[in-house]
Amino acid sequence: MKEIYTLADLKTWKKTPIRLGVLGDPVAHSLSPQIQNAALKQSKLDMRYTRFHILPNELREALDLVRRLDFIGVNLTVPHKIAALDHVDDVDPDARRIGAVNTISFDRKSARGFNTDGHGFSRAIREEFSVDLRDLRVLVLGAGGAARAIAMQCAKENCERLVMANRTWEKAMRLTDELRDFFVGPKVFGPVPRLQAIPWEEAAIRFQIGNVDLIVNATPLGLNRADASPIPARLLAPHVMIYDTIYSDKRTPFVSAAIEAGARAANGLSMLLHQGALAFEIWFEREAPFAVMREAL
Ligand code: NDP
Repeated sequence: MKEIYTLADLKTWKKTPIRLGVLGDPVAHSLSPQIQNAALKQSKLDMRYTRFHILPNELREALDLVRRLDFIGVNLTVPHKIAALDHVDDVDPDARRIGAVNTISFDRKSARGFNTDGHGFSRAIREEFSVDLRDLRVLVLGAGGAARAIAMQCAKENCERLVMANRTWEKAMRLTDELRDFFVGPKVFGPVPRLQAIPWEEAAIRFQIGNVDLIVNATPLGLNRADASPIPARLLAPHVMIYDTIYSDKRTPFVSAAIEAGARAANGLSMLLHQGALAFEIWFEREAPFAVMREAL
């Protein structure tokens, strides 16, 4: 088996055990094969999961091919999650609301699109901090695909408060407008609104620190080890929990800043694991062997 396959490989596909994969550009960094192959082996499913380097203009053809090749399903990563909405027959309501698909399941008749990022995030927070979203005041940094999934999940679970901060403020504003209906009830007492978009500026963030419990980085800041922490340690405080969706076996800049400030922190490995387990459950309609998947990661 190769580390990475391409569209050209799919066009000249020979019979292999590969029936699942992740499509992305770039895709070499994806840890999904590690997790999913461990789950397949443990579940005695005689098939393999691999990486496909697929360019944006190749997505439709790649999806047509894997479907004809009898794949069970695929995952989608950057930059295909939004475009994939147009290449499936049915879209799960959560994925529709988020506006992005990260998991496709094929059967004889149709290709169905799902998004497991939000639910995976919720499970990761429970696992890392032993707390449910409904009890938290959450500040999300970013307003792209991952941030949308996380914000929608917080809204669905009726979190105490949701604050969105994004480099492009208008995008955060539009997202809070979409979520307005979830936050009509007065849950938090005090002067701060339950739902708010704030500019990504030091004064605005400093004010929020005293009014949130969980801060989530849903931007790519930290993918590069030379990146600064999205919020510097001097603005953080020991009472906040920090979740960085960036995953790494080392400390991300945000996790390092949190530790310096005396706060609890976790990186995105747990979200990756949970969204992967949920995808496995969609494809095979059975419980994922979670412990084995974690061990493999
Ligand atoms: P998108 O490209 O959809 O969104 C990126 C967001 O980050 C935008 O809001 C953008 O702001 C903001 N941003 C980008 N660069 C900067 C910067 N230099 N400074 C401040 N803000 C910036 O990406 P995704 O939402 O799909 O992914 C974001 C991250 O989430 C990824 O890097 C990935 O590591 C992580 N992720 C982790 C998962 C997991 O399972 N752990 C699952 C999915 C994602 P603007 O609107 O101004 O452009």
